Amino acid sequence: MRQIIIAGNWKMHKTVAEAVSFVQELKQKELNPAVQVVVCPPFTALAPVAEVLKGSNIALAAQNMHWESQGAFTGEVSPVMLKELGCQYVILGHSERRQYFGETDETVNRKVKAALAQGLIPIVCVGETLEQREAGITEQVVASQTKGALQGLTAEQVAGLVIAYEPVWAIGTGKTASAEDAQQVNRYIRQVVASEFGSAAAEAVRIQYGGSVKASNAKGLMSQPDIDGGLVGGASLKVEDFVGIIENSL
Ligand code: 13P
Repeated sequence: MRQIIIAGNWKMHKTVAEAVSFVQELKQKELNPAVQVVVCPPFTALAPVAEVLKGSNIALAAQNMHWESQGAFTGEVSPVMLKELGCQYVILGHSERRQYFGETDETVNRKVKAALAQGLIPIVCVGETLEQREAGITEQVVASQTKGALQGLTAEQVAGLVIAYEPVWAIGTGKTASAEDAQQVNRYIRQVVASEFGSAAAEAVRIQYGGSVKASNAKGLMSQPDIDGGLVGGASLKVEDFVGIIENSL
């Protein structure tokens, strides 16, 4: 059985004070231990949030990283640095990184390999734009992003990571893919993993859905057989909303 994983991607939100107060409050909640809960603060808040999360079951993720361990890369943060802070996960290839910061399948692939080498679990994001969906090429797009990001990995490595299917048109728009549409794409991604890495890896890899997930649609989405959790943006910024999603995800 794959464990449901609900991750809150805060994007460029929350000062250190706001982030700390959020996780202090979240820690007080009785969260269902069957759900893996992850928070993904901005870089500046990772260390103080890690302190608060010590001894809890809530995991910490970064939103991006460079693929090198160190070097002359002004403004970048390395996997070694994230590991040192206690990050367990790292989001890679988010559509906002691809759209605004030139992230490509090739750089995502380098980052995935570097994360795994440091013992970080990648949350690899894939998803089509509205134009691509309307052109009927959703499957081609997610297949090539998935293959590109995972190229050169072993089946064991793929089995342990997380893929997030985030249709770009559903991000921050209030438009959610229907549970059936999301299930269909998630199942397709699992088939792509099966054909590249074998059925054991495909059965084990967790595939989230992301894009306007909220408490009211969480149950319908998470009850789909190939949707193993959610990558949540806007609705992860308030404790009450985020907890509502966690509670409705089983
Ligand atoms: P929203 O939940 O705000 O649509 O964002 C989704 C997302 O991009 C999570 O990574």
